[in-house]
Amino acid sequence: MSTSRARPLVTPVSVLLSFAAMLAIMGITSTWWEFALQDHILPRFGIPVDAGGGEPSRWRFIITAVAFAALSQIGPALLLFRLIRRLDRARIDVIKAREEADALARYDPLTGLPSRRMLREHMRKRLAVSAGSTGYALLLIDIDRFKIITDLHGLQMGDKLLLEIANRMKRLLPSDAVAARVSGEEFAVFMPRPRSVEPLGKLAQQLISHLSANYQFESLEVRLGATVGIAVTPENGTDEGEVMRSAETALYRAKRNAGSYRFFEPALDQELKQSRRLQRDLQSAITSNAIVPHYQPLVRLKDGAVVGFEVLARWNHPMQGFISPEVFISIAEDTGLIGPLTQSILKRACQDAAQWPERLKIAVNLSAMQLKDTALPDQILRTLKSHNFPPQRLEIEITETALVDDDKTANAILTRFRAMGIDVALDDFGTGYSSLQNLRTFPVTKLKIDKSFVRSMNTDANAKKLISGILALSRSLGISTTAEGIEKAAEAKYLNSVDCDFGQGYCFAKPMQAEDVPRFLNTHVPVLSGAL
Ligand code: C2E
Ligand code: CA
Ligand code: CA
Repeated sequence: MSTSRARPLVTPVSVLLSFAAMLAIMGITSTWWEFALQDHILPRFGIPVDAGGGEPSRWRFIITAVAFAALSQIGPALLLFRLIRRLDRARIDVIKAREEADALARYDPLTGLPSRRMLREHMRKRLAVSAGSTGYALLLIDIDRFKIITDLHGLQMGDKLLLEIANRMKRLLPSDAVAARVSGEEFAVFMPRPRSVEPLGKLAQQLISHLSANYQFESLEVRLGATVGIAVTPENGTDEGEVMRSAETALYRAKRNAGSYRFFEPALDQELKQSRRLQRDLQSAITSNAIVPHYQPLVRLKDGAVVGFEVLARWNHPMQGFISPEVFISIAEDTGLIGPLTQSILKRACQDAAQWPERLKIAVNLSAMQLKDTALPDQILRTLKSHNFPPQRLEIEITETALVDDDKTANAILTRFRAMGIDVALDDFGTGYSSLQNLRTFPVTKLKIDKSFVRSMNTDANAKKLISGILALSRSLGISTTAEGIEKAAEAKYLNSVDCDFGQGYCFAKPMQAEDVPRFLNTHVPVLSGAL
């Protein structure tokens, strides 16, 4: 931006020039008056013109008049000059401050990249004259795990990382691309689009792998990830606002699968609108207790005895009917509602389970992201205490993803749960990272073999071998095992024969409402494995 507006209006030269101009004007006007005007004007008022002095005295009169007039102006002129100088300085300060704020808003001071505002201005200009060109592409890049790293290693480390991210991006981008930092850990690239979209996918993939490569700072090694949303013009929008929204929608959707990229599709827009509607409804559903726990029995395979219930959240939406927990749990995770949802489900489960025999446990699911919150174990303990519910009757279920991102915090949280007497089950084992090492590293007391293994057990000999392997390992570590998704008596029988401890699935019962539990317990006949 030009700084010409910030130059002082009043300088010594400008004052001298104005003074000289004033003298010149006074000289010219008084000469004009003395030699020309007064001869015409004074007689009209009946005043005689005194021309007796001759030319020299007329000049003397002119010079004296101008000199006195000039002298009489010096005092007020100096005062006026100082006043104007002061006003001028204040005006310059305001302009400079405004210019600095403007520059800050246009460029990110840390990375030197254009800001969101500057990017939008650039996009507006380019899109306004894009008729005839093949169009543009906008890639929005979100840096994964950035917040965790800055929480762990401080903001200075965050700054170093942002600089390195910006450098890695610049090295990869074509010369006609404009890179910008649009918010804390979100970057953008705006560039003329190639005719086909494949090269854009390739570029997104390259950005992801370069930004995910290790960051080395002295002895510290840090890993981040990146997720990319892409929108192209004119298909996904013709003005900068529309293109930005489309790229944001694509990014939002890509984030479900961190480390991936996604092009905008109109269907995503619908999905996002629906998801926003659900977000709003979810908030009120939690506070009005419209999300209720259902209970699915956990059965000891050896004798068929019920040992507890898994607590599964259910939401019967007034307009849309039953909504799968897979859908609303992920919305709750995205919107920070998972904490309140878990607490509400746990409270209800404590109240319901208080009516059941004391030997029956409840197993509550926790989301991976909740294992980053070190306050969680004590919050849960407080809820248990306020309902007089012994911690020994609670089991928490976590998935392996919870152990990957920040294993130290997760380990500390699980250790705290264990110290309280709460059991820890590793859920969906076999689907995620399936690191057997996790069983050694984390204080896990139970392992739940995923239902997909039980499903494929009937057709795939390898699945059986794998199950036997998992069972042998957990036995050697003193960890008990539950197989989930048991739908047939024959599956239960086989699993019992290979020493799997517990089972869960439609074969025993589907998840049921609290009021159906007592009837289920009364009518359930413990079946010995041989009879299953
Ligand atoms: P999950 O923890 O693996 O829960 C077991 C899922 O398997 C449940 O699905 C259950 O209804 C289903 N299931 C049980 N037996 C059988 C069977 O024999 N065959 C088949 N095909 N399926 C069976 P649901 O209730 O739809 O829950 C889905 C997932 O939602 C759960 O998977 C869990 O990850 C999550 N979830 C549910 N409630 C909560 C909650 O309160 N908090 C959190 N964080 N997640 C929850
Ligand atoms: Ca579970
Ligand atoms: Ca499971």
